[in-house]
Amino acid sequence: MAPALLTAIDSTSHVHLIVGSNPLAGARCSRSLEVGAKPILIAPEDATLHYGLVKRIDEGEVLWLKREFKESDLSSLGRAEVDRVVDAVFVTVGGKQNLSTNISSLCRRLRIPVNVVDAPNLCSFTLLSTHSDGPLQIGVTTSGKGCKLSARIRREIAASLPPNLGDAVDRLGTIRRRIWEEDHAVELFQDLEIEDEDVGQSATFNKLITMESVEAARGRRIRWLAQICEYWPLRRLAAISDADVEALLRNYTCSHPTKFDRPTTSNTTPSGQIILAGSGPGNPDLLTRAAYKAIQSADLILADKLVPSAILDLVPRRATVHIARKFPGNADKAQDELLELGLHGLKSGKVVVRIKQGDPYIYGRGGEEYAFFHSHGYTPTVLPGITSALSAPLFAAIPATHRSVADQILICTGTGRQGAAPDLPEYVSSRTVVFLMALHRLSSLVHSLQVKGYPVGLPCAVVERASCPDQRVIRTTLEHVCAAVEEEGSRPPGLLILGTACTVLHQYHQKWVVEEGFTLQNVAVEGDLATLAAPAA
Ligand code: SAH
Repeated sequence: MAPALLTAIDSTSHVHLIVGSNPLAGARCSRSLEVGAKPILIAPEDATLHYGLVKRIDEGEVLWLKREFKESDLSSLGRAEVDRVVDAVFVTVGGKQNLSTNISSLCRRLRIPVNVVDAPNLCSFTLLSTHSDGPLQIGVTTSGKGCKLSARIRREIAASLPPNLGDAVDRLGTIRRRIWEEDHAVELFQDLEIEDEDVGQSATFNKLITMESVEAARGRRIRWLAQICEYWPLRRLAAISDADVEALLRNYTCSHPTKFDRPTTSNTTPSGQIILAGSGPGNPDLLTRAAYKAIQSADLILADKLVPSAILDLVPRRATVHIARKFPGNADKAQDELLELGLHGLKSGKVVVRIKQGDPYIYGRGGEEYAFFHSHGYTPTVLPGITSALSAPLFAAIPATHRSVADQILICTGTGRQGAAPDLPEYVSSRTVVFLMALHRLSSLVHSLQVKGYPVGLPCAVVERASCPDQRVIRTTLEHVCAAVEEEGSRPPGLLILGTACTVLHQYHQKWVVEEGFTLQNVAVEGDLATLAAPAA
């Protein structure tokens, strides 16, 4: 069976027909009222109704038509604006009755969504097991395989969410709206200026600059918001406060970073400690013990957006976490801001831990950061991390070197300085090449590789979110990799692996294959199911 199309229907003022009188009919009426619809109950006068339902009828919330169902009900009880056709029908009398079958086929003919209890074949839609928290709604369906199970899954999902997420969704919605409104106000203002100009002031040059910088600021704020939503740990997002909202808006209205004291001069004694630590590819079990201890000892954590929340979850409560506001076009500014924050912390005697995804010295600007702190009198302790460049191939079951297949491995970037195309390495058939930061410009990279002589049939793999629960591996060839990524969508961060090593442990004959998920076998994780399941010897 194909999966159903899940949708959210605005049911305000809709007319829902509920046929039947059992407790389920009461539950359906309540659900209709919750979503702003008007329930009409059809049940004979002598029916025994649940106490709660009687109360709702008495209070006028539910209209009870004390009679049997009539075919004409479907097209006479609805809203005037839709020619009196009702918006949905819920039959609660069960699928075995002729009445249910009859109503179901009438509804289908009139294209009225119909749901019959315990009769999936008579339903044109089913209700989801839902969790609501303000504007945030989560719905689960098992496609009719078990409603108890879907309720359980829904509960587990809801329980795993941080508290107040609904409020946060509201707040973030407010930010979006405010950014939009402010940008819109700027537009109006520009229009006025242009009118002024028509009156005789010629300031075309100035106007151009204004437009450009407004445009730039506009893009920056919206991108920053998108980045927050994508990369901040959910716990942090859920705790977003009005003050945070103000700070976000302010910081990107005036486009200079927060200023701190001047750098330390030689006559002040540095007292803080700075540790540059690699976090590994993402899974907290892949942190080194040294990095873990550093995180535990931190007063101030400076992280990149790539550092996943599972790692930030290890940060002790007393420590402050700052996540770099890096996104295309803002990388340098965000980096300066982060370094200044670090310096400020060091001067006030803090243990500052700069966490970098993977290994700090592999495409992590670790060297620059070392030099910066060193030049201000603080010598960083640098802790290595497992780099994604070497671990992602492993987690994708690709041995980067393999006897008589690949005897060298090259790590390179798919993006040159300022986003330009990088110099590409020559094709060597016995080499495995790993491209970081490449997927956002994959098609031009693949084109350049082919021009450089890389064969179209060369096996390759795209590994995304390596070592995280949502790891995905796409195995393909240079010829099909762009189509594959376009069709499967992107799940950053990800990298590209090229070379015959890709097919050592996995053969495939399709244009591409996709593998989802990650398991760290034989590693005891928190609440390890294996230990629960294993019978005592
Ligand atoms: N210092 C990092 C690399 C930073 S550059 C390291 O050693 O891993 C950022 C790039 O790393 C991303 O564009 C992506 O190509 C890659 N990357 C980082 N984490 C990854 C992961 N978990 N899975 C796949 N690629 C990852």
